[in-house]
Amino acid sequence: MTDNPVASRTPVTLLGTGAMGSALARAWLAAGHEVTVWNRTPARAQTLAAEGATVARTAAEAVTANRLVIACLLDDASVGEALEGTDLSSRDLVNLTTGTPAEARARAAWAEARGARYLDGGIMAVPPMIGVPQSGGYVFYSGSPDLFTEHRDTLAAPAGTRYVGADPGFAALHDVALLSAMSGMFAGITHAFALIRPEDIAPKDFAPLLVDWLTAMAPAAHQTADGLATGDYTRNVVSNLAMQVAGNATLLRTAEEQRVSPELLTPYMALMERRLGQGHGDEDGTGIVELLESAPGTPA
Ligand code: NDP
Repeated sequence: MTDNPVASRTPVTLLGTGAMGSALARAWLAAGHEVTVWNRTPARAQTLAAEGATVARTAAEAVTANRLVIACLLDDASVGEALEGTDLSSRDLVNLTTGTPAEARARAAWAEARGARYLDGGIMAVPPMIGVPQSGGYVFYSGSPDLFTEHRDTLAAPAGTRYVGADPGFAALHDVALLSAMSGMFAGITHAFALIRPEDIAPKDFAPLLVDWLTAMAPAAHQTADGLATGDYTRNVVSNLAMQVAGNATLLRTAEEQRVSPELLTPYMALMERRLGQGHGDEDGTGIVELLESAPGTPA
């Protein structure tokens, strides 16, 4: 939050008052900013009017109201639809709508062609974490460095800010990379609960064990980063690939004994076996990154 007096706080226009947009609007209102909101379905913006926001009748009106325009809509297509026909000249457009890096780059070029500066954002938080500094929620930003520097204090009101570069696609790339890692973690959690469920083991007792184990294992990401930086995947290896692949057989036999489908595990195990088959049994798992990069049929 900024120490500026209320009167000097930057007024904000917010397009989209869904779950996330409403949380953002409330955080800016709480921080003393004037907030103009627009939502495709006007009724969904009305509760914010009662909390002090100005509700614009059209997206064009909302964009005209303030220089700083935040979009938090469903997807990139909805951003295009909402902003079609609005005057973006001299606007600072901050797009917090989740999308791909290519969508962000195209949207940046699209906005700049209409006279706006553009910053893309990837929100690493769920709505209850917005406006709650101790929640640890933050937003990746990339794109115009000038826009980010100028509005950093305002952008920091709802959540922490992490600027990751001038390439407008980088915020989305960081966002999606973290979400993809989370997806793998959820797959593992799901399989683990399926294994214990047929037995007299309370999921509530098991959950803390799972959390502690995943927390203890997560720093392995640093070992992967070191390997990718040096190109040597055999340094400081404590669990080599040959041993891990042998261990996989136990994981699969246990799944069979518990009558649990191994389908969440087998794609990763197949990659481990392929890397081992190429003669890399003394590495950790870092070489699998190379297998993914050269995957046949990967879209360009
Ligand atoms: P909601 O489904 O709650 O809201 C979606 C918003 O997009 C609504 O304002 C909706 O308007 C609007 N919208 C959809 N289609 C169009 C369109 N064609 N034209 C104009 N407006 C449209 O989603 P959230 O608020 O939760 O999510 C918004 C963004 O935030 C998404 O990109 C999401 O990925 C991202 N996000 C959300 C998180 C979450 O936990 N909720 C976490 C991190 C990121 P209407 O009311 O008229 O339907």
